[in-house]
Amino acid sequence: MADHYEVLGVARDATTDEIKKAYRRLARELHPDVNPSAEASERFKSVTHAYDVLSDAKQRQNYDMGGQGGFGGGGGGDFGGFGDIFETFFGGGGGGGRRGPRSRRERGQDALLRVELDLDEIIFGTHREIEVDTAVLCETCQGSCCAPGTSPITCDICHGTGSIQRAVRSLLGNVMTSSPCGSCHGYGTIIATPCLTCSGQGRVRARRTVPVDIPAGVDTGVRLQMPGSGEAGPAGGPNGDLYLEMKVRHHDVFSRDGDDLLATLEVAMTDAILGTSTTLHALDGDVELELKPGTQSAEVITIKDRGVGKLRGTGRGDLRIGIQVVTPSKLNGKERDLIEQFSKMHKHPEPSLSQFHQGFFAKLRDKFVG
Ligand SMILES: [Zn+2]
Ligand SMILES: [Zn+2]
Repeated sequence: MADHYEVLGVARDATTDEIKKAYRRLARELHPDVNPSAEASERFKSVTHAYDVLSDAKQRQNYDMGGQGGFGGGGGGDFGGFGDIFETFFGGGGGGGRRGPRSRRERGQDALLRVELDLDEIIFGTHREIEVDTAVLCETCQGSCCAPGTSPITCDICHGTGSIQRAVRSLLGNVMTSSPCGSCHGYGTIIATPCLTCSGQGRVRARRTVPVDIPAGVDTGVRLQMPGSGEAGPAGGPNGDLYLEMKVRHHDVFSRDGDDLLATLEVAMTDAILGTSTTLHALDGDVELELKPGTQSAEVITIKDRGVGKLRGTGRGDLRIGIQVVTPSKLNGKERDLIEQFSKMHKHPEPSLSQFHQGFFAKLRDKFVG
């Protein structure tokens, strides 16, 4: 792609004013209403694009820093951003005039819907029937916009071209300008007897059910694109797309770390000392868990492949169970005696200071605070 500064013939440190002047000078030479050659038309497009980028401080900065300059301004090589300056010295034109009448047929709009899911639904993925209020093709006219048996008639003001040509005296001499035909709004045709079902729009509002297979492993914020499931376009235009934005509901027991599921298991002190076996009620069924004698608080037991199905790739994450040993806080006299006896018999270390524990629970806490 040619350098925007070279295209406009200005220095890299040119002021906005200098850029504007250079653009005006080239536009007078190259505008399709002045110079109909194909080469001029191509140059005019690149000149206009260069001007779009360099006249916008943000886009210019981005371009200077090596960005492509294509995004962010809506410019993109066409006639975008041209209107403001065009009108200042061509006297209000808008549109080249050689592009023919515009079409009533347009692509429908995209739609965005939020879908709420429970954590257990995303382990394997799920199926939903999503209700959408949308626009669908009008059955009566099949998108023609005309009452059955009729068709659009050619506009007798613009003779079907959709635009009106006029010679205008300007500082550049006589210039042909074209503007959209006011009678047919630039369509070139008039719908004399509109379809009554859709009031001549070619589409009607309706409630539609869209079946969706939601894959395993989606997370809050993930958007699924359903091509062609958005609104039907006017006059039989193609459908837009439907986007479904996922929201995974909070679960009281299980939380999620990527594809892993996390939960805490409270274990009585005596079970932690002696070891035990227990059945966990996981989101996808029961899990048998062996606790070895001498299980410690904050120990993490990993149960392979019992997490969430992977959105990209195959297989599942793990289920990670953090152990929390629960110390009894109320003892009766006999229990207290037994524990004191045990304490005297059992050689145990004095309380000692070490580094603050940054294990499983600290991580979980961070997740909930954030
Ligand atoms: Zn209709
Ligand atoms: Zn017309």
